[in-house]
Amino acid sequence: EQKKLQRLKFSPTQTLCGNKISLCANIELPDDARAAIEAGAVGVGLFRTEFLFMNHKDRLPEEEDQFEAYRRAVELMGGLPVTIRTIDVGADKPLETLAGGDGFESAQNPALGLRAIRWSLSEPQMFLTQLRAILRASAFGKVKILVPMLAHAQEIDQTLDLIREAKRQLDDAGLAYDPGVQVGAMIEIPAAAIALPLFLKRVDFLSIGTNDLIQYTLAIDRADNSVAHLYDPLHPAVLHLIAFTLREAKRAGMPVSVCGEMAGDPQLTRLLLGMGLTEFSMHPSQLLVVKQEILRADLRKLEKPVADVLAAFEPEEVQAALKCVAEA
Ligand code: PEP
Ligand code: MG
Repeated sequence: EQKKLQRLKFSPTQTLCGNKISLCANIELPDDARAAIEAGAVGVGLFRTEFLFMNHKDRLPEEEDQFEAYRRAVELMGGLPVTIRTIDVGADKPLETLAGGDGFESAQNPALGLRAIRWSLSEPQMFLTQLRAILRASAFGKVKILVPMLAHAQEIDQTLDLIREAKRQLDDAGLAYDPGVQVGAMIEIPAAAIALPLFLKRVDFLSIGTNDLIQYTLAIDRADNSVAHLYDPLHPAVLHLIAFTLREAKRAGMPVSVCGEMAGDPQLTRLLLGMGLTEFSMHPSQLLVVKQEILRADLRKLEKPVADVLAAFEPEEVQAALKCVAEA
């Protein structure tokens, strides 16, 4: 079975009916890019940079260290796009360096607190350092910037202002970067999906983070085992938010991917394809099994059963419709 999967590595990723799909990899450290290439990924759809920060226990990495790490990933990908997400700390990803300082520890609801972009905007010097390091790596290959946990128009605008500021600083220092580097937003808070026009007007691409989207839609702490049985990717509310985001982004001509765990689950591949997804990003180990599902899928046959899944609300109806998706 493994051998059979390996053979898929070099075949183009398209559905039975000929629709091209792009499969990217999620990475946590620069050297993970090797596994991405090994699995046949056409880019890095999500570089979770907080892991670089979390490995620096006594201080945050300097601009040079960050730049070297980003450049390394970019170079290992050999010209394929690398989507670098700005630091996403807090909640399930505490930053030990800062725990004593600005107190993630003291927050009563860390998942609802000062995490991700909220933290970055509260530490503009740290954020500018990261933005400069990412921009500098863009001189060595195709880099995109992805911003986690956005919900408000003013957060997007402040982020875009800081990116402009980081570019000005690099201009002043005579350091190279790609002036056309694209900026994208994670859609992982229900408010962001529902207020999608705020994003369509401001950013260049979207990436749906289903892990957090599920957590925040269902009010289920993704790290709390006592409620893990209620963490349901197939809850109709979750599926509706994903389908809506995919449909509206497509209508607006805005590139959109899914980079949460759902993208790497072969049992959900057909459903996502049927909802219109064309860009997946996942752990490199999942890439070929998902590809196998894509090669076997016929979008024309998926249309009706996927519409039935989205029209269903009762769990038995959802399950019955999903069975039809699997058999289509
Ligand atoms: C997500 O929330 O789906 C996601 C991809 O980001 P993370 O798992 O790093 O929060
Ligand atoms: Mg997330």
